Amino acid sequence: MKKIKREKSLYDQVARFAGSSFNCFAVKQQVGTRHGRIDVVGLREVHSDYFSAPEIIGIEVKEEYSTYLSSLGQAFAYSVYAHQCYLAVRKRHSNAFTPDERRLAAKLGIGLIELKSRSCTLVQSSRLFEPEPRYVAHLLRKMGYFQCALCGGTYRHEDITYASNFAIDLTDNPKYKGNLRKAIAKRRNLNFYLFQLYNERKAEDRYYVYDRRFMCKDCVSLFASLTGKEK
Ligand SMILES: [Zn+2]
Repeated sequence: MKKIKREKSLYDQVARFAGSSFNCFAVKQQVGTRHGRIDVVGLREVHSDYFSAPEIIGIEVKEEYSTYLSSLGQAFAYSVYAHQCYLAVRKRHSNAFTPDERRLAAKLGIGLIELKSRSCTLVQSSRLFEPEPRYVAHLLRKMGYFQCALCGGTYRHEDITYASNFAIDLTDNPKYKGNLRKAIAKRRNLNFYLFQLYNERKAEDRYYVYDRRFMCKDCVSLFASLTGKEK
């Protein structure tokens, strides 16, 4: 119990560091996924004139006495979800990562963060990993964000209009066509379901369709001319 409490205060320290040093616009602690929990997750966006995509940083936080290789392994496992993986270790007094520890981390591509009582120092950077896009999408949702299916930008999961319901085909029900129009007029983000895709690749017999995608309000507004209410 005591150990958990101590780690929690370390999480706070690391979360602040991730926000400022890694330019993350969202940082969350103890993010649970289907396969495990990530101590600290930072979210930022890589952005250029022609491209936007989310970038996730996963950080494993440990006390100094933890077994080093196991800790490195945990940080490495985050690469399923994260583009960069770090191991942050609380170092007491004048202790620091040894050359051997730095070398092992470099071999796996894991970045290292040294935690002292009053400071957080980036010792070496993580390499860029290639997480599976479907896991990235799940983690984004856990963080309260979504990636726009059209522009690729990352947006907060709020002001959402549902263009179709779980079990009702958009093409059959005028009510949900109306919701698309509403999203355009009220400048809201859009959640839509992939009935066509699901029906074509039906692998199991289920009534509801959970395959959903999102579109940001800017991209939704591109369809304004189709509603006859373009400005
Ligand atoms: Zn968009």
